[in-house]
Amino acid sequence: MQTKFQELKTRLIEVNDINAASGVLHWDQSTYMPPGGATARARQTATLRRISHEKFTDPAIGKLLDALIPYEQSHDYDSYEASLIRLTRRQYERAIKIPANFMAKVATHTSESYQVWTEARPANDFDRVRPYLEKTLEYSRQCANFFPGYDHIADPLIEPRDYGMKAADVSRVFSELRKELVPIVSAITSQRPADDSCLHKHYPEAQQLDFGMEVSKKFGYDLNRGRQDKTHHPFMTKFSLGDVRITTRSKEDSLGEALFCTMHETGHALYEQGINMDFEGTPLARGTSAGVHESQSRLWENIVGRSKGFWKCFYPQLQKTFPEQLETVSIEKFHRAINKVKRSLIRTEADEVTYNLHVMLRFDFELALLEGEMEIKDLPNAWRERFETDFGIVPPDDKDGVLQDVHWYFGLIGGSFQGYTLGNILGAQFYASALEAHPEIPNDIEKGEFNTLHNWLKSNIYQHGSKFTAPELIERATGKPMTITPYINYLKTKYGELYTL
Ligand code: ZN
Repeated sequence: MQTKFQELKTRLIEVNDINAASGVLHWDQSTYMPPGGATARARQTATLRRISHEKFTDPAIGKLLDALIPYEQSHDYDSYEASLIRLTRRQYERAIKIPANFMAKVATHTSESYQVWTEARPANDFDRVRPYLEKTLEYSRQCANFFPGYDHIADPLIEPRDYGMKAADVSRVFSELRKELVPIVSAITSQRPADDSCLHKHYPEAQQLDFGMEVSKKFGYDLNRGRQDKTHHPFMTKFSLGDVRITTRSKEDSLGEALFCTMHETGHALYEQGINMDFEGTPLARGTSAGVHESQSRLWENIVGRSKGFWKCFYPQLQKTFPEQLETVSIEKFHRAINKVKRSLIRTEADEVTYNLHVMLRFDFELALLEGEMEIKDLPNAWRERFETDFGIVPPDDKDGVLQDVHWYFGLIGGSFQGYTLGNILGAQFYASALEAHPEIPNDIEKGEFNTLHNWLKSNIYQHGSKFTAPELIERATGKPMTITPYINYLKTKYGELYTL
């Protein structure tokens, strides 16, 4: 039995290595590759993806999994052995249900659709992407139908990113949150907006990047197992537990850009760097879901990085780095500026309060499209109407409306957005539990000390990798299922100090 388990592990590590090689190619493409490399790179990535899929869906893996059932049952549920077999079986059973030729068709379609979108968005031309999007919706439904027996057609599409959450669960949590959030947004936006002009002076890039990296190291990012490079759309990527990289972007007329991108991606990287090293090379060695991953980026970026306590320690250093720009700006003014709330058109630029309304709009539209309640041709108008209801502003064009996010143009429709808001909710829930265990955390943060918080997150979340599903992990770490209460309390306390709520 031991040898069969070893054989399974060897095969999984091979698949992992091919995926890691794809990861390096993707990282290179997004950071240093000259544009001329694009065509060949797309081909190389597709080749690796095909080989990895073939290897993972090899019937030999299915046979090993069957043979290992008694071995799995003889180990505890949370043991390494049982967890690896359980997770592999779940992923294997999903992977073999999607035919290889379907995957190839979708890959070709999405790369064409992406290409058209890159031209259609600046031209504000929804009609150009419309036939592609219609095809994407058809593929999304087909994909869901490889998994008959679902409660909602979106469930099989949500599953690979947020396993254990169904459309109905997400909808319920979102509608509870919406009820609380709408009055907070109206209360804040009816008051005089924060003045954030202090962030929009000239800030040289090199100092911005250095400062961000100093903060990242303080949070606990291990540069012996990581590095930061520049890119257009920041992301975190991992080639092994010994090589977890982040990327950032900067704007010399906007101080927040690089700094908060770095903090955000550092949160993702701390999660991956904190995984038990024994899991290296196996499917256990990654964060368990999109929502839990995003909870870590949001926790470090927003709950820590935009808090008054954090800046009590770091603002004097920031002023020293940019004396001309910040000497006369008080910490109160700076804190208000980095927490400015405003109704805006673009999701990725939204503040932490209004952000969730952007996500809910997209999530609801995904469900309506998949259910057949809404057609692709209706999207631009539906977007404008819903935006006016939720934000009180009408997007002047489709470029900054329905065309703004890459997700639907470079992948399937369904399951792509809910993780962002689940992350906001969960970040606050985890942080509240860490505070219960260690009430000294806010004092530590004011001293620029993050070890207690980092260690709590490591032992309750990070080390487990994908051993537990998100619902299991949340219950273990916080003693209850996902709840919006800590997040609402966090928003009310923080924004109650900045505005009259
Ligand atoms: Zn993120």
